[in-house]
Amino acid sequence: MSKSYPFGGTQLPAVREVTLNVSEGEFVAVWGPSGSGKTTLLNLIGLIDEPTAGRIFFRDRDMGRLTDNQKAEIRNRELGFIFQHFNLIPVLSALENVMLPLQIQGRSTREARQRALARLEQMGLTRFKDHRPDKLSGGQQQRVAIARALVTNPALVVADEPTANLDSKTAVKILEIMRELNRHERTTFIFSTHDQRLLGRVDRRIEMEDGSVRSEVFGEHSMGEDRFSQFDQK
Ligand code: ADP
Ligand code: MG
Repeated sequence: MSKSYPFGGTQLPAVREVTLNVSEGEFVAVWGPSGSGKTTLLNLIGLIDEPTAGRIFFRDRDMGRLTDNQKAEIRNRELGFIFQHFNLIPVLSALENVMLPLQIQGRSTREARQRALARLEQMGLTRFKDHRPDKLSGGQQQRVAIARALVTNPALVVADEPTANLDSKTAVKILEIMRELNRHERTTFIFSTHDQRLLGRVDRRIEMEDGSVRSEVFGEHSMGEDRFSQFDQK
């Protein structure tokens, strides 16, 4: 798949003919310098943006054939997205932020509350459930964001530099939390980083350069069985 942006009457490629196959349960890091196309790639995978060429398959369905509503439904039910700047809703408490994806699904307040509380507990945040984001540290906010991404039990979590705004100790902790969720719940993770130290314990490292995949290294933890999603070359 490729993605170009219009620029002064021409098209500037941000992702160039990238082909990627990610299997269910994989833990994948995308790394590379700023401007190499990581965010663009993750936005395509997370169905936030559409490729200008090529196709994206998620669980064997061609995303290019879906309506906007169908894609929104997949984003809400089967995908979780974690942002660099946490993107929590400032006027909502931690608990309300985590409940939101379930309420969008039309779940009862009671069910949303129970499931959100369970996720907050898993993140060690029970004490902070009534706090608004501005009363939480960066690491705590990102744990709320992880709880929110996981509360719907998505098959795939996409995270764009989830540790970039955190100190290195907190960054390692957040990565460990993601790894544990990946191991215990088989949630697939695709995240970007430009922190080399986080790359040691992933199943696969994809190095981006100038919109292309420069190298791909599989770690000893790689599993990769069923085809999970496929990003075809074009
Ligand atoms: P990274 O996340 O690795 O820093 P990005 O995907 O953000 O890289 O950017 C890749 C390239 O695409 C850069 O050259 C950037 O300037 C360009 N780009 C990203 N988003 C846009 C946009 N919305 N409009 C125009 N150009 C963009
Ligand atoms: Mg980026």
